[in-house]
Formats: sequence, C-alpha cells, structure tokens
Amino acid sequence: MKALVWFRNDLRLDDNPALLKAAETGLPIIPLYVHDPKNPRPLGGASRWWLHHSLESLDQSLQKLGARLILKQGDTASILDQLVKSLPISHVFWNRRYDQASIAQDSALKAQLKKQGLTCQSFQGSILFEPHTIKNNQNQPFKVFSPFWKHCLKHAQFDVPKPAPVSLNFYQPCVAESESLDSLKLLPTYPDWAGGLRQAWQPGEQGAQDRLKVFIDQGLLNYKTQRDHPSSPATSLLSPHLRFGEISLRRLWQMIQSHRLIKPELDNDADHFLREIGWREFSYYLLFYFPDLPTVSWRADFKNFPCAHDQALLKAWQKGKTGYPIVDAGMRQLYQTGWMHNRVRMIAASFLIKHLLQPWQWGEEWFWDTLVDADLANNASGWQWVAGSGADASPYFRIFNPILQGERFDPDGTYVKQWVPELENLSSSFIHKPWESDQKTLVQAGVQLGKTYPAPLVNHEKARIFALQAYEVMKGQVD
Ligand SMILES: Cc1cc2nc3c(=O)[nH]c(=O)nc-3n(C[C@H](O)[C@H](O)[C@H](O)COP(=O)(O)OP(=O)(O)OC[C@H]3O[C@@H](n4cnc5c(N)ncnc54)[C@H](O)[C@@H]3O)c2cc1C
Repeated sequence: MKALVWFRNDLRLDDNPALLKAAETGLPIIPLYVHDPKNPRPLGGASRWWLHHSLESLDQSLQKLGARLILKQGDTASILDQLVKSLPISHVFWNRRYDQASIAQDSALKAQLKKQGLTCQSFQGSILFEPHTIKNNQNQPFKVFSPFWKHCLKHAQFDVPKPAPVSLNFYQPCVAESESLDSLKLLPTYPDWAGGLRQAWQPGEQGAQDRLKVFIDQGLLNYKTQRDHPSSPATSLLSPHLRFGEISLRRLWQMIQSHRLIKPELDNDADHFLREIGWREFSYYLLFYFPDLPTVSWRADFKNFPCAHDQALLKAWQKGKTGYPIVDAGMRQLYQTGWMHNRVRMIAASFLIKHLLQPWQWGEEWFWDTLVDADLANNASGWQWVAGSGADASPYFRIFNPILQGERFDPDGTYVKQWVPELENLSSSFIHKPWESDQKTLVQAGVQLGKTYPAPLVNHEKARIFALQAYEVMKGQVD
C-alpha cells in the first residue's frame, strides 16, 4: 500500500494538509505533479517560467527529506489511471482547487478512484474560507466585498499551521516513472526573454518565506499609507508565491497576527494587509459561483459594450508606448519583471478599457501571459473591477485620469523614470505629461516626442468623453 500526494497549486512542504495526511498514514509516499497543458487553462509564458523553478525548488526540498518529486505531463485523468494501475497505490491525497473546471475534474477522479477501491481525500490548502461555507443571511452568495469580508472575519478561526514533516517514507521505485523537468519545456529558449524575471524573483518555498520575512520587518509598518505608491517597497510581493501555493495562507495569517501582538502599532497596517488577502478570497469566491468570470462580464449589460477592437492600439499598450508615462512604465515593468504594482495595474487596465475602448478580455489575456502571478480568479476579478462590469466593481463612469494618478502616486516621477528611461531627465512638473512641456525643456531633457518617446495615443479629455458616450450607447441598448 502506497500513498500518492498530488501537488497542484500548493508547491510547498510547510502546512500542506495533503502531504501531512499522507505522511501520517506511515505509508511510503509518491509525491506527484502533473503538468496538464490544457487544464484548467494553458499557462502563460511568465507562469510557465515560474512553475519550472517552483517545481525544481519543491523537488530539492523533498530530496532533503529523502523523497523526489515525480513529474508527468499530459492528460491528468489518463496519467492518474496509468499510475494507479502500474504502482501499488492505495491512498490518494490532494488539496482542493476552486474553479469549476478543476472541481469537475477532481470530483470525477475522486469518484473513479473510490470505485477502484482506493482511499481518496481532499483538503483545504490554498484559501482561508471555502466558498460553499460562506453565504449571506438569505443563504445566497455575497456579491459585495465588505459584507463578505465582515462575515469571513467573524469566522476566522483557523487550525494552527503545521510544519513540514521532518522526513518522508518515500516509495523509491516510483522514480522510474518520472519525466524530467526539462522535458516539460516550461522555460523560454529562443529567445530567452526571462532575464528580468530571474533578476527579480526567487520562486519556491524558501523564496516565499524570505519575502514574507522582509515584508514583515520592513514593509508592513506603513503598508496602509504607502501601498499605493509604486516606487515604494511597501507591498509584500507575495502574489506569485501565493498563486503557486508556496506559502500557506494560514501560516501567513498566523505570522501577521502574532507580529501585531508584539508590535501593536502595526494594527492598522496588518488589518489593511489582511483585507487585501480578503480580496483574494473574494476573487476565488466569485470564480466559484461565476465560472465564466475570466471571459464573460458579470453584469449582463456590459456584454453589449461597443468596444473598438483595434489591434494596433492593443500593441502600443502592450509595448508601453501609449505616450502616457505612468501607463507605459507599468506595462514595461510587467514585460521586464512579470509583475506590476497594483495601483498601476488599475491605471493601465483602465486606460486600455476606457481610453482605448478595447475589450477588458484582451487585457486579461495579456496579463495572463505576462504576469508571474497570473491567477484565474484574481486576474479576472481585477479586470472586471476596473471595467465596471464585475461584482462590487468600480463604476464605469469613474475614469482614471492617468496624469493625475501619476502626479498623486508618483509625484517626483521616480517610478516612471525607472521604467521609461528616455524620460529620466524630464522635470517632475512634466514627467506625467511631457506633451505639455515647452520645446526648450524637452530638448534639454533629450526628449523628442514622437521619436524618442511617443506622443500620446489619445487626448485624455476627448477619450473620457468617448468612453462616457460608449457607456451611454451600451445602456441605451439595454433599456
Ligand atoms: C487588472 C488587474 C489584474 C490583476 N491580476 C492579478 C493576478 O493575475 N494575480 C494576482 O495575484 N493579483 C492580481 N491583481 C491584484 C493585485 O494587483 C496583485 O495581487 C498585487 O499587486 C500583488 O502584489 P503584492 O503581492 O505585493 O500585493 P500586497 O499588497 O502585498 O497584497 C498581498 C496579497 O493579497 C492579494 N491581493 C492584493 N490585492 C488584491 C486584489 N486587488 N485582488 C485580489 N487579490 C489581491 C494578493 O494575493 C497579494 O499577493 C490584479 C489587479 C488588477 C487591477
């Protein structure tokens, strides 16, 4: 009898309920990861890069406990079926996923494995509150974040996170079943565009723990006031680690709570940070109840929005060549490092949807491909929030002004200058609106609009009026 642990979005040893349960059985264990290119959605390039390194790191951690990670690639159901037939597996454990395609797959597999006489058990390992347990007073799903989170906080009693096992009873013969990590072909080759990602990140459980420690020591105090300033190192940068489950949410929660006990001055910042974790919970919750969230507007009226569908505008936005420095800085940060600051994600997304009138789904797809933290739930809910089409979203008519946003959150242009170096000599008075600068100032700063840096693709005021007109057209179609 052997116990299979199927790793998915939980690439860690610490506080991993499925792994711990397998270890508790005392049976020899088989740690498995299946790269199923289709399910639930093909990963984007940056996520594939992250996954490669995260799997490598998980394997190294398992080796320290005397085990190896068994890698497989292909259709999950066929692979599990073949493994169960070729190895003496009696128990299968995994941590749950929450998108409906994965839920359907897991339910079918569980039923099949049980039918074959195996013990099969799943656990809560990647969110804090399971969606089916959270309902409002009318026994309906919440649609608004604040009451959702208030309700969650009332039930925030979690099991104490459990440390990684100190050793594992590994079923050695299963090594022969493993494919090599390189054969999964997750890394870019020609061209190798991942240099910026390598510089910025340390994927894996150790990287996640180091990141959390730095955040608690240096970022948490002032999180509330600084988190909107993209040049400030005030946010945790934990998003890709959370996406791949390299850190346990219970561990994160416990560390923040225990830290604030020692330092009560952190109270407000800690609450605010946990509230952002709450937004992650809410996104997973929405995806659970609205499986089409990544592709279909939650608000039915938005399905008729008159988008422009212009590939040239999309390209300019993707490349960070819109002529609006804060947008371009964000898009270039994304392309180079696989991550963009939350405030800038909102500004850049709003610009694509409202200034350029492109479908939010196009932006969602680009982020899906380029973000190391690309997350089915968070990405979709972020885009729908900005578009105004989501549950509890920012109203459509609230259109971000990229100049004022830049001046407010990047007043001296530090962030813009880092990612748009062709503007580095421009004074802070014009850094967010170079086209308003006089010719002499531009020449002194080495800027030639339309040559060294693009002229703005659209005029903000006019674009705002067009966007509001498009919104009226959409409403008219519905009425
Ligand atoms: C258009 C758009 C797309 C987005 N796409 C993604 C995505 O694919 N993956 C992703 O993880 N986040 C996404 N976000 C949310 C947010 O921008 C990132 O989670 C955040 O910038 C990550 O940086 P951090 O870890 O330093 O965040 P922190 O401020 O340190 O927050 C801690 C954690 O809370 C969660 N979180 C924070 N803000 C949000 C939010 N608004 N919604 C949901 N969870 C949140 C994340 O897991 C984050 O790591 C998106 C936001 C927008 C506006």
